[in-house]
This record gives sequence, C-alpha cells and structure tokens, in this order.
Amino acid sequence: MKVGVLALQGDVREHISALIACGVTPTTVRRASELAAVDALVLPGGESTTIAQLAEIFGLFEPLKSRIAHGMPVYGSCAGMILLADEILDAKEDQKTFGGLDITVRRNAFGRQVDSFESDIEFDDGSKELIRAVFIRAPWVERVGKDVEVLSRVDTHPVAVRSGHLLATSFHPELTADHRIHRYFIDEVAKPALQKVQ
Ligand code: GLN
Repeated sequence: MKVGVLALQGDVREHISALIACGVTPTTVRRASELAAVDALVLPGGESTTIAQLAEIFGLFEPLKSRIAHGMPVYGSCAGMILLADEILDAKEDQKTFGGLDITVRRNAFGRQVDSFESDIEFDDGSKELIRAVFIRAPWVERVGKDVEVLSRVDTHPVAVRSGHLLATSFHPELTADHRIHRYFIDEVAKPALQKVQ
C-alpha cells in the first residue's frame, strides 16, 4: 500500500515518522501526479484554511476531493479532521473543506484558556489502554451522521471518529511515541477499504 502525506503545510514530518514506525514507506504529496500515485493519504495538523488555499493553488483541491469521494482511505488529524468534515462551525469566511465525512466540527472548540492540553483518553479500537492525546487549538465534533462511529470523547464531545474509509482525530497522535492510531488507520481502515475496491 502506498501511503502519502499531504505536504502543503503542517506537521508533515511527524506523520512521516509515525508511518515509518508502522512499517510503511510514506511519500509526500504536493501535486496531482503525486496524489495519483498513492492509495491512501494522511492530512496533517496545521492550519486548515492555509492547507485548503494551498491545495487550490497547487491544483490539488478538486482531485483530492474527488479521490476522497471515490473511496480513498484518508486519516486527518486536527486541521486534517476539519478538512474532512462536511460542515464547519466557526469557519473563516468562505472556508472550504474536501469533505466526505458526515460530521459537523467546531474549529478551536476548546477555547482560549485550554488552547492546548494533553489528556489520556480511551480510543475504541478494542484495546482498553488509554491513549495520550495532544490537543492544539483543536476542533471537536458537534454532530455525527448516522454512519459515523465515535472512537474517543473528551467529556461528551467526540474527538475521534470513523466512517468507512475515513478516520479523523481532533488530537495529534503524530506528536507522541504511541503509533496506535496510525496503525489502526493502516490495518483497520485503509487495508479493508482498499481490499473492497479491488
Ligand atoms: N485550529 C486549527 C485550524 O483551524 C487546527 C489546529 C491544529 O491542527 N493543531 O485549522
């Protein structure tokens, strides 16, 4: 499986390292030809408005939106979650997303006082072990569509969700040494989705 990391802005290097630790050899994606060469993609944390604007400039916005709509497995962390969401609250004017994931997210939802924080939370992958979650000006999910599974919450707010070939977390597992979420994406989301397509 060829896994790409969208490398327009954000914490690309950290996702590359996490994927390598999971045994895949990731490539960076900055142009349409590079997107066409990957089977699955990671959208990093960063700034969702900047990433969307750069995607337009690099001619990637429509091709990426279309690949997602046609079943390409994608994992988005933080800004990546926002970019996968069908609907955003507290969006910048005219902010666009690639969409595909039937959720509504609120940007910067945790507010100024808790701009950034870390917490040990459950991640519903069958293991009972908590996961260290790093939140940086993170969104939370305010609405999930009927086919969306909630995998983690903070208080009542969903912060990790999955729907078919799409996985998104409000937090940044790429900033920790725990690669469970990347492994989950590869083994439980991307592999089964790609097998279905073949
Ligand atoms: N608040 C950022 C945004 O709206 C996301 C922050 C992050 O990815 N750490 O894009």
